[in-house]
Amino acid sequence: MSASDTHVILPGATLGVLGGGQLGRMFAHAAQAMGYFTAVLDPDATSPAGRVSHHHVRTGYEDAQGLAELATLCAAVTTEFENVPAAALNRLAESLPVSPAGASVAIAQDRAAEKAHFVKCGVPCAPYAVIETAAQLAAVNDALLPGILKTARMGYDGKGQIRVKTRAELAAGWDELGQVACVLEKMLPLAHECSVIVARGRNGDIVNLPVQRNLHRDGILAVTEVYAGNLPAAQAEQAIAAAKSVAIGLDYVGVLCVEFFVLDNGQLVVNEIAPRPHNSGHYSQNAMDVSQFELQVRCMTNLPLVQPRQHSATVMLNLLGDLWFTQGETAKSPAWDQVLALPGTHLHLYGKVDAKRARKMGHLNITAATPDQARDTALQAAAILGIAPF
Ligand code: ATP
Ligand code: MG
Repeated sequence: MSASDTHVILPGATLGVLGGGQLGRMFAHAAQAMGYFTAVLDPDATSPAGRVSHHHVRTGYEDAQGLAELATLCAAVTTEFENVPAAALNRLAESLPVSPAGASVAIAQDRAAEKAHFVKCGVPCAPYAVIETAAQLAAVNDALLPGILKTARMGYDGKGQIRVKTRAELAAGWDELGQVACVLEKMLPLAHECSVIVARGRNGDIVNLPVQRNLHRDGILAVTEVYAGNLPAAQAEQAIAAAKSVAIGLDYVGVLCVEFFVLDNGQLVVNEIAPRPHNSGHYSQNAMDVSQFELQVRCMTNLPLVQPRQHSATVMLNLLGDLWFTQGETAKSPAWDQVLALPGTHLHLYGKVDAKRARKMGHLNITAATPDQARDTALQAAAILGIAPF
């Protein structure tokens, strides 16, 4: 499909997604609500998306037969899992529209390529060095320490990262990571973190969700707050403009999340991109008139993109597997009945078979008429569930 192709894929068609995790599940729900059929490709028989989809192709992402089956079933394909090999997307793109493109996903999969893209777009990122060889390790500038050594590929939820203070720790960290390609980033003084989700169509139309203020705990997103005044207006505008230029620079088609750090001095620095809907955008299901998953459907089908409108102040709490255990490690069921007695609470669970510590099991969206009310209810819900206050 060329950039100028305006062919609209109407409801009744089947839409495919590579990856069967919670993002695929929520995509399937959004597509189905609009009258589409869905197909998921994921090897896991109990994948969250596979369980709610009309079709489940149960093969690996590089399985030629599985990809061919998906291509036969579907009118268009998207991805929910950024570690899907770009080659699989490119293969599918030979026979049907695929968004985002393999080339965009390939950049997001590699921290070195991603950072080079930020530099190209003129969007500041943390000072960094690429470390692929012992010589590059030896040549690292001391100004990057203390820093965070991150594997260039396959990291998520803070995995594949080691904090290093000295050159000795850096060398030991690189050994520990198996001497794979890495980037070393200077450790920055963060005042807070935020992210912006944009959706861009094939015709170049681009819309955005409002800036999300994010709190991470142990490298995992814990809380997202979205309401007027969550960030100073100038920072919010700057983040939205930067996110759009990153998407335009990639000639991106689909939903893209751009994560930022806000430094102690107020400076905005881009952290990384996710070529798909993002955990920090889940509030859009209940607080916006168009969710990030509906935006994904609209992008891949060439339906019009209209600027989403926020109708409620909102706080999202991530529900990690830890909530399913007492301190003594006994399994328990969180008190959903108590949480749902609070006004404006919306429970989303992903149907995962086993609760494990640090595993994302679901999220709770809290909506209210005012930011104070949303925060107040979210704090009450957090107290019931055993989530630390924020
Ligand atoms: P995910 O994919 O879940 O967003 P990730 O594994 O890709 O996470 P990063 O986003 O790179 O990891 O980092 C995780 C968290 O670690 C960040 O959200 C931030 O809190 C902290 N962090 C990462 N890089 C830096 C840095 N250069 N300076 C200070 N803190 C950092
Ligand atoms: Mg991140």
